[in-house]
Amino acid sequence: MSTIGFIGLGIMGSPMAGHLVRAGHDVTGYDIGPKGLEKLKEAGGSVAASVAEAVRDRDIVITMLPQDEQIEQVFPEILAHAAPGALYIDFSTITPKTAKWTAEQGTKNGLRVLDAPVSGGENGAINAALSIMVGGSADDFAAATPIFETVGKTFALVGGNGAGQCVKAANQLVVGGTYALVAEAILLMENLGADAAKGLDMLAGGLAGSKILELKRETMLARNFVPGFRIDLHHKDMGIILQAAREAEVSIPMGALTAQLIAAGRAMGYGALDHSGLLLVAEALSGR
Ligand code: NAD
Repeated sequence: MSTIGFIGLGIMGSPMAGHLVRAGHDVTGYDIGPKGLEKLKEAGGSVAASVAEAVRDRDIVITMLPQDEQIEQVFPEILAHAAPGALYIDFSTITPKTAKWTAEQGTKNGLRVLDAPVSGGENGAINAALSIMVGGSADDFAAATPIFETVGKTFALVGGNGAGQCVKAANQLVVGGTYALVAEAILLMENLGADAAKGLDMLAGGLAGSKILELKRETMLARNFVPGFRIDLHHKDMGIILQAAREAEVSIPMGALTAQLIAAGRAMGYGALDHSGLLLVAEALSGR
């Protein structure tokens, strides 16, 4: 069993840290807010008053923070205080560029670094059923496998440092586009007088079927947009995707359109809602 410093105990980090405690690891958490720290204590972990305290002398350091900005803020503290040889796993969704920066800086300071963004949402975190796309070396991936097995169901090494974030960008492209289309399908069915609930059941059972239809069709129809995954965070991810496409010199017009719909959702004041709230954007565009 390992000693783990876990930074970022929000919607995703909190249940993930809980699984690691229950698997027998000695987990010390740090978050700038009190909620996740309370939950970790209830789960049997301990809490630290700073990043330095959370990571000092730990075998493994984990971050699950919102975006590049927080990684850029916290990572220098990790570098300064983590033990040489410690394994650093970043589960956050950030740009491949920042992931590569952590790997370069980490390697110089004796840290072993993996980018390991996840998919599966809050339910996936609660049920330890996340899909984890990992960038880094085969040796570090092997060392982190017991952690991935504890919080996830599907995981793979998809390339060197930064590759995990590239695959996650592709994932978010598909998720955002799918939500936008499911929202339009609901709008269409409701306004043509079809039974949208039964209609979505049919879509879910056919070629249009997806995890999003499976898990979110009822809450979308009920206009329940409690996050889940906030529109604000998906907006951040669309920025990562468009930047990555620019760097790769590939054209992703569907991605650009999805990014605009998500940006419109924020502009309408829906940033704190779940990304399935793209239905509200579709409705507004049709004056509904
Ligand atoms: P969240 O906002 O619920 O959690 C982030 C946590 O980080 C918060 O508790 C916040 O207080 C803490 N934090 C922020 N700055 C900090 C700092 N400087 N030091 C310590 N703690 C700090 O976000 P989340 O939904 O858990 O998402 C975390 C990451 O996982 C994001 O990159 C997101 O894109 C990704 N993700 C989220 C989901 C989802 O469904 N929520 C799914 C897959 C991936």
